[in-house]
Amino acid sequence: MKEQNTNSNLYKIRHSLAHILAQAVLEIRPNAKLGFGPPIDSGFYYDFDLDEPLSAEDLPKLEKRMRHIIKTGQVFEREELDHTEIIKRLSKDNQSYKIEQVEDLSLNNEPLSLYQNGPFWDLCEGPHVKKTSDIPKNCFTLETLAGAYWKGSEKNNMMQRVYGLAFETVDELKKYQEKRRLAMERDHRKLNRKQNYYTISDDVGKGLPLWLPNGTVIREELEKLAKETEFLGGYKRVSTPHITREELLHTSGHLPYYEESMFPPMEMEGERLFLKPMNCPHHHMIFKAEPRSYRDLPLRLAEYGTCYRYEQSGELAGLLRVRCMTMNDAHIYCTPEQAKEEFIKVMNLHKDYYKLFGLRDFWMRLSLAEENAGKFVDEPELWKKAEKLVTEAMDEVGIPYEAVRGEAAFYGPKIDFQVTNVVGREETASTNQLDLVIGKRFGLSYIASDNEDHTPIIIHRAPLGTHERFVAFLIEHYGGAFPTWLAPLQVRVIPVASAFNEYANSLNENMYSSFIRTEIDDSHDSFSKKIRSAAITKIPNLLIVGENEQANKTVTWQRYGSKERQTLAIDTFLNLIQKEILQRKDWRKTV
Ligand SMILES: [Zn+2]
Ligand SMILES: [Zn+2]
Repeated sequence: MKEQNTNSNLYKIRHSLAHILAQAVLEIRPNAKLGFGPPIDSGFYYDFDLDEPLSAEDLPKLEKRMRHIIKTGQVFEREELDHTEIIKRLSKDNQSYKIEQVEDLSLNNEPLSLYQNGPFWDLCEGPHVKKTSDIPKNCFTLETLAGAYWKGSEKNNMMQRVYGLAFETVDELKKYQEKRRLAMERDHRKLNRKQNYYTISDDVGKGLPLWLPNGTVIREELEKLAKETEFLGGYKRVSTPHITREELLHTSGHLPYYEESMFPPMEMEGERLFLKPMNCPHHHMIFKAEPRSYRDLPLRLAEYGTCYRYEQSGELAGLLRVRCMTMNDAHIYCTPEQAKEEFIKVMNLHKDYYKLFGLRDFWMRLSLAEENAGKFVDEPELWKKAEKLVTEAMDEVGIPYEAVRGEAAFYGPKIDFQVTNVVGREETASTNQLDLVIGKRFGLSYIASDNEDHTPIIIHRAPLGTHERFVAFLIEHYGGAFPTWLAPLQVRVIPVASAFNEYANSLNENMYSSFIRTEIDDSHDSFSKKIRSAAITKIPNLLIVGENEQANKTVTWQRYGSKERQTLAIDTFLNLIQKEILQRKDWRKTV
């Protein structure tokens, strides 16, 4: 959660609204016992212990009462009292939770502040607006009811929590509600229920997604994209096992520091083997498998590698937090002279990918070492050089960035690519590191032109992140309506009546044998129902065929999300669609 500025007008509004909500609840539930009622990121909440619980129908009634209190312009007045005095008052009102709160604060026995407005008072530090009428009356709404344990502990009573949204203007409130609606509608877990990308089975285990055919198509298309791009970028593909000996992870530093985020080891023939938490150590061993000279560098080793992390079960969420993930990984081993150019190439690779996916809102976050980097690394000079190199590379590439000092990992400067998703949430899409340390730890070396052994600089990069996170991101980004090249089903042929099934079938087979993912809807549904069900599954291309099409050997083409239809010769359509797939075009971007 973001830090809230306690002096901002918005904070005061939200804080004051929490009081007014409690005041309104006491009007309809005079016996209500009050718990906590703080301002939060999007508004405020208040917890109540009630004889008769509130229902959703009570929310508009409470809102109305709140608006009335706002209108009357009650002044918020601060008072300071010592604990006994406050407890006396609270006992009179029978506010047992508040008494407990005061007792918790009683250690240093300083006077406590309370705020009174109209007939209502509450234990509070403030600040608030001056009077209730300072609150813009249309900029809040009561949103939901939820259950919440007193002090967040299951051992305590369950209370009822009322959540409210509050902003400074109606516009901001509306915008927030719209974003929230979109986020819910586009949530990859929700879209998955209709579109069947993956499933998670209790019999297999938590956080271990099983990719269904639809999701697997997307995964494999992404892999194809990465493999082609990396081939052209001079990468060599490698393939490594999913497990590794304990010793290797000690060398990499995963053990003992990250042991709790790893699956427990397997014991075998007197050895301990772990599921790998990262691909790096295996790639380093491939570098080490042969003597290397500067002429072999840069050596770029790429793999879609599967890793395992033991995430807490409470943290698991759809594809976003999983225990098994496959990463678009590569390590670039290079000389210090090559590092800058290699880094620029990696950043340009990100730029190209983002352009392809129509992502415009992205920037980089550069984490640098503390001013005094000595404690991180044995070679402060090398470190300084690396920072200079990375900064220069970033300037050259021209993607906006923000530099943060003191947040670098101990092995070198790090760059995160931050993207803003469709609903405005900022995410780290991928992390890149210039590694000055690990080469030495693994004893990696190459013979330089001076005939001496040198340690290579290593760049870690994974522009498409893990399949799990990236596919979740794309599902939400496209709202399930994928461009043709990524769509699980690319074309559906719809005969307007069963008399044209044969023509539709031959068309379908023709496309299928050209490796287009196509199917025919020869169900007994009416034509309009067929069109509707294709829209529900968000199939990017429909081919409608009837008498004219059959007679002229044509197809009538309709895109997802468009009402337009155009009739083309079969070959013309085939050429267009194959080109679109090959070039990975999203036709919507050109409209
Ligand atoms: Zn307050
Ligand atoms: Zn790595």
